[in-house]
Amino acid sequence: MKKPLFNQIAIVGLGLIGGSLALATKKMGLARQVIGVSRSERTLLEALRRKAVDVATTDLKKGVSGADLVVLCAPVSVIESQLKVIQKYLKKNALVTDVGSSKIEIERAARTHLKKNTFVGAHPLAGSEKTGIFSADADLFKRSVCFITKRNTRVEGFWKALGSRPVILNAVAHDDLVAKTSHTPHALAFSLFQTKKDFPRNTPPNPSIRELARLAKSDADLWADVFMSNREALLESIVETERKGIHLLKEMLRLGDRAGIVRFIKQANKNSFNS
Ligand code: NAP
Repeated sequence: MKKPLFNQIAIVGLGLIGGSLALATKKMGLARQVIGVSRSERTLLEALRRKAVDVATTDLKKGVSGADLVVLCAPVSVIESQLKVIQKYLKKNALVTDVGSSKIEIERAARTHLKKNTFVGAHPLAGSEKTGIFSADADLFKRSVCFITKRNTRVEGFWKALGSRPVILNAVAHDDLVAKTSHTPHALAFSLFQTKKDFPRNTPPNPSIRELARLAKSDADLWADVFMSNREALLESIVETERKGIHLLKEMLRLGDRAGIVRFIKQANKNSFNS
């Protein structure tokens, strides 16, 4: 067996992402000991039952105090509040990272509350509309990309060992990119479905609605957190989509401007990519 990358890893928040991370860390032998910290006994018991962690606790202080690597995996606003309290419990030279879906506010909290060079932000592009440890999967990160906000060999090595490809992107560029590629599509899906009480449920759905329907099932608290933490970039992206997209299309429909609609769709064809 290869030498583990870390002696002790603490994973704080054992939901879909944290639970998957714990399972993968154990499966790949990346730490001598994995400590799981979560809020509910039910989650902790399931983490122990699935052997995702060696030790399970609700006590953040106890959880992080012996760790060489702390990975914060709760919702974004919770990560920010945990960053406020952990510094005094961290071991010397401990490294802290996270998985939050937006990065500027989390980095701001880390800069305010942690010692310099303690924190490296990360965001794995893996997951789904599901939540909780019962959906966790040891292979979730295989062949995925993980954004990392600055170069750090240990954090990059951790994600590589999980089968993920680290891509370095600073927090501002990251939040701008995910506003356009993830947060706006979620905003469109929520908008579409929250107005459509009368979608037929017992006739087969048109395939084109399936991905939006999946996004519209995403967890409300988790996504309210993501939206709030990336407010400015998301607002900018929504305004642009509205002004240069929906509004324009609406006007062309009103005027019966078929040629305009063709130009509009052709521009979308050109800007799109193969999925
Ligand atoms: P999740 O399945 O709902 O898990 C969240 C975890 O955080 C749970 O273990 C929960 O504990 C814990 N938690 C929630 N509120 C807490 C609180 N107030 N105090 C302490 N712990 C708390 O969510 P997830 O999908 O894993 O997302 C976790 C993070 O990953 C988020 O920051 C999200 O932005 C990011 N992310 C998600 C995805 C995705 O596709 N889902 C992808 C990339 C990144 P209990 O279970 O014990 O209640």
